[in-house]
Amino acid sequence: MNYKMSARIRLVCLFITIILCGTAFVTGNSWITAAAVIIYVIGAIQFSIFHRCPRCGVGFRYERRGGYCPNCGEKLD
Ligand SMILES: [Zn+2]
Repeated sequence: MNYKMSARIRLVCLFITIILCGTAFVTGNSWITAAAVIIYVIGAIQFSIFHRCPRCGVGFRYERRGGYCPNCGEKLD
């Protein structure tokens, strides 16, 4: 998995988390809240594992769109 796919998956996880939090708030179901937390954590973990420079492997702290790797200078598209 490349860093762009990882960023997309995290975005989807955040979106699902927001929807589940809204649903949990309306229904008062704590299991939905737990599912929302789990999905958020999965998104964050895969982001920390796969959101890395394709050349040198340094992890990006924030989502990168374009620019260059701060470590090796690899051009990112
Ligand atoms: Zn790099």
